[in-house]
Amino acid sequence: MIEYVYDLSSREKCPVENSKKVLPRARRRLAEIESELRPLLPDEVRGHWRRAFRGPPDVRAVGDRIYGMFQGDNGLLSLRASWMGRIETEVIEMALSLLHAPEEATGNFTSGGSESIYCALHAMREWARQTMPHISEPEVVAPYSAHPSFSKGCHYFGLKLRRVPLAEDRRASPDALTQAISANTIGLVASAPCWPYGCYDPIPEIAELARERGLWMHVDACVGGYLAPFVEELGVTLPAWDFRLAGVTSISADLHKYGYCPKPASTILWRSPSVQQYHWVHPSDWPGGSYSMTGFAGTRTAGPIFAAWAVLQYLGRDGYLELARHILAMKARLLAGIDSIQGLHAWKNDLMPVVFEANDLDLTKIKAELTRLGWAVVGCADPPLINIPLDAGTTEKIVDTFLSDLSQIVRDVRLGTIGGSEALQY
Ligand SMILES: *Cc1c(COP(=O)(O)O)cnc(C)c1O
Repeated sequence: MIEYVYDLSSREKCPVENSKKVLPRARRRLAEIESELRPLLPDEVRGHWRRAFRGPPDVRAVGDRIYGMFQGDNGLLSLRASWMGRIETEVIEMALSLLHAPEEATGNFTSGGSESIYCALHAMREWARQTMPHISEPEVVAPYSAHPSFSKGCHYFGLKLRRVPLAEDRRASPDALTQAISANTIGLVASAPCWPYGCYDPIPEIAELARERGLWMHVDACVGGYLAPFVEELGVTLPAWDFRLAGVTSISADLHKYGYCPKPASTILWRSPSVQQYHWVHPSDWPGGSYSMTGFAGTRTAGPIFAAWAVLQYLGRDGYLELARHILAMKARLLAGIDSIQGLHAWKNDLMPVVFEANDLDLTKIKAELTRLGWAVVGCADPPLINIPLDAGTTEKIVDTFLSDLSQIVRDVRLGTIGGSEALQY
């Protein structure tokens, strides 16, 4: 079991720049600025996954256009200005319509999975303060594979996070979670799916455990939230993970991942207003009166709210279904291609990301070379893996170029002509 306690001495120093930029004396021309920055843009093919997660060009165009129209509006006003609040509420309603949510379910629009998870942890803490007032050192129990934003959030909110070892199949072990529950436990966490391995935790069992023990249960569907409903509709069987399960209290789902909405955009969804009430903080103890915000941010751009609404409307169920079909085809192509490279092995996991390991090769060298060529993949240290943020904007050309680069890299690693190495980390 790992108990998360933040250690100041382990804080890495930020690299110090030698020459510091100063504000130029004279104004500069836009054309000059643009040409200085253009080389930083990603390559259309090898740089595609750098901007993960993206839909095809038409979907991107819709998101970008509507984002641009409302970018200058202040999302701080969403609980005040009804024209904006209506759009934000409808994004939440459309999200809930995918998650077998009860009629009274509700939610909030946030800046990303991390903020959605912070909202869940904060509400969980406030709920426990009300309903379990005898607990003075609240604990949250999560599988080892849960996202690090749970560790950050627990640090911010004064909660102790107990990370529990996984079962053999690298899914959460309900038995191990049960053993980790103590008199101080207020909630459980599970992933749908987890990022490092792309597998679903046995959420039905964990939700039942939470219900029996009277604990809050948060499902982290940041990756799967907007993809799984359509993959399930295509006949792929996934463990139940959403509000179908009576024990599920809250769900995080990222619009800016497989919802293909422009960043930053995510949702935190609550089973009922009686759950959401613990989310709200409405201070008014200053000269300006009531200060009510939907999430953690004050001033924020309204662009992502309107862009998310537009992308959801533009795609509809049919559009998302089509993209799910495409992404499954691209995944199959990647898996077959990776497996055909001697020494590499792709995992047959539940959903995303695409994950592969090496038998007798140094993955840190492979990762360094992929990065050098412009491919944006991430690593996993335990065990050594590379994760590909496959998205629906990924074309056959991108997949085939990747596979041919990868196979050349593997040849070079075997020949010993690759010098660099790169840590297997997110
Ligand atoms: C991406 C991710 C998050 C965090 O989302 P951000 O949008 O990066 O803050 C949380 N959980 C899982 C499983 C994720 O993949």
